[in-house]
Amino acid sequence: MTSTAAERPVDVLVVGAGFAGMYGVYRAVKAGMSVVGIEAGDDVGGTWYWNRYPGARCDVESIDYSYSFDADLQNEWVWTERYATQPEILRYAQHVAERFDLKRHYRFETRVEFAHYDDATSTWLVGTDTGERYRAHFVVFATGSLSAPNKPDIPGVDDFAGEVLYTAQWPKEGVSLAGKRVGLIGTGSSGIQSTPLIAEEAGSLTVFQRSPNYSVPAFNRPLTDEEQVRIRAEYPERRKKCLYSSSAGPFEAYPKSAYEVDEAEREAAFEERWKAGGVLFGKTFDNQTIDPVINEMARQFAERKVRAIVKDPQVADDLFPTDHPLGTKRICTDSGYFEAFNRDNVKLVNLRREPITSITATGIETDQATYELDTLIFATGFDAMTGALTRIDIRGSNGLDIKHAWADGPVTYLGIGIPGFPNLFSITGPGSPSVLANMILAAEQQIDWLFDLFAFLEENDIVAIEAKAESAEAWIQHVDEAARQTLFVKANSWYNGSNISGKRRLFMPYIGGFGNYRIKCDEEQAQGYPNFELTKASVPATV
Ligand code: FAD
Repeated sequence: MTSTAAERPVDVLVVGAGFAGMYGVYRAVKAGMSVVGIEAGDDVGGTWYWNRYPGARCDVESIDYSYSFDADLQNEWVWTERYATQPEILRYAQHVAERFDLKRHYRFETRVEFAHYDDATSTWLVGTDTGERYRAHFVVFATGSLSAPNKPDIPGVDDFAGEVLYTAQWPKEGVSLAGKRVGLIGTGSSGIQSTPLIAEEAGSLTVFQRSPNYSVPAFNRPLTDEEQVRIRAEYPERRKKCLYSSSAGPFEAYPKSAYEVDEAEREAAFEERWKAGGVLFGKTFDNQTIDPVINEMARQFAERKVRAIVKDPQVADDLFPTDHPLGTKRICTDSGYFEAFNRDNVKLVNLRREPITSITATGIETDQATYELDTLIFATGFDAMTGALTRIDIRGSNGLDIKHAWADGPVTYLGIGIPGFPNLFSITGPGSPSVLANMILAAEQQIDWLFDLFAFLEENDIVAIEAKAESAEAWIQHVDEAARQTLFVKANSWYNGSNISGKRRLFMPYIGGFGNYRIKCDEEQAQGYPNFELTKASVPATV
């Protein structure tokens, strides 16, 4: 590969030092490829580096939400709780980086600003905000599905003169909220996880809720010594179950249909899943997110649980969703969320009844009241799935701008390849199971597939690979059809971009199942990548 003096040549450039990027760098080193990783933060961890808000935890059990690629790592690392806290997950990421000596391949505190493809050399020129330039054969965007924070579109959003915090960019040094009048905007997963802890610390907490969400208690607890032994014995089998499962998890739905069982058995099944804690309740029975009748049974069960906790019936009314089926937006996992609203220092403001008119220097005005605040916290989520990529100036073949290519929604083949963008790959991108699966295992599956592809390209003297436009169109149509067969399309969610004003509504993750997706990827590989355009080294690389 040729390059100018100022451009550092590299086989693979990986953007992001989250779990996907770190594994990408690991695989590149193993494959003997030259690699550089670029990361905006000053350390590894991705999501767990940025989201340090009180109460941040995984909602997939820790023992599943961890790498599977190295048996020694798996056996030696000890998760202390069923659902690990953010500091523990970050320690794990750092441990992995040190154990496999990954940090030396990274440039931290460096943001990729542009990536421009050169048709003549089949390479990418990648530029950073620190002025570095790389000439990369392959670019792997492991930039995260939930990594581009969303600043809400509220009049006066920049006018607040007090302390402003984003859950997605929580200060590293921590924050004292003691005695403060805190306002929290947003009741998705981050808002729901942080509310109980903020309520305990703050003088007062006012939660501004536009959209109520379903949440199931985590029933989190430390893992006992006996469990640690059992986990290690069962790990290989547990991981095997994940390989071809619907969401890269080892759990199965209740063995009988919700229609087959009588009310008592159904209730017992829901109760068992509720007590198991977390997101699993959303899949107690098969077809629960497909069949509205089964979904309504689950919904009513959850509603009874919430009403049994929240003392004020009006607050319970406001907290329980009526606008979307259960589990069709990311179901939240909490530790004392609904209980927090029984506290004297916590108030819920239902923005559907009492909309915000503006944010002012001293607080929030609604059309009915003024809320004076010292601290304003935005738990307003992300420009999910596409935001991290479209915020970079990415230009593919013949200067094609990714913002233009994706103006009507993201077009990918298998979520990995993008027509018009040769030698560029997106990990856990739109069109892949991504946020609907255990994302560490989803990233491993895609990265493994990708490095097998790199080996194939090398062996066959292929310098450029690009997803075929017609294959990507067909895949995106399949992704859309799969979603339409479910109740997910009935919800306004970040899955379909409805949380971002002006974003085209399109269901982005592949809901057809992680296992089915793996089969599609395996078939693509076995057949020699028929849905990609392959350019041999001897052929001029211009398109
Ligand atoms: P990320 O961890 O998002 O890492 C991407 C990295 O890319 C970031 O560090 C970012 O700084 C960097 N980056 C982006 N753009 C640029 C650029 N232009 N230049 C340089 N660097 C850049 N998933 C689950 O499966 N289970 C869970 O329990 C779970 N809990 C979650 C809880 C929270 C609070 C959040 C926000 C997400 C959660 N997720 C969960 C999803 C989570 O994002 C993934 O599990 C996983 O951590 C994603 O890893 P990643 O490497 O793909 O991306």
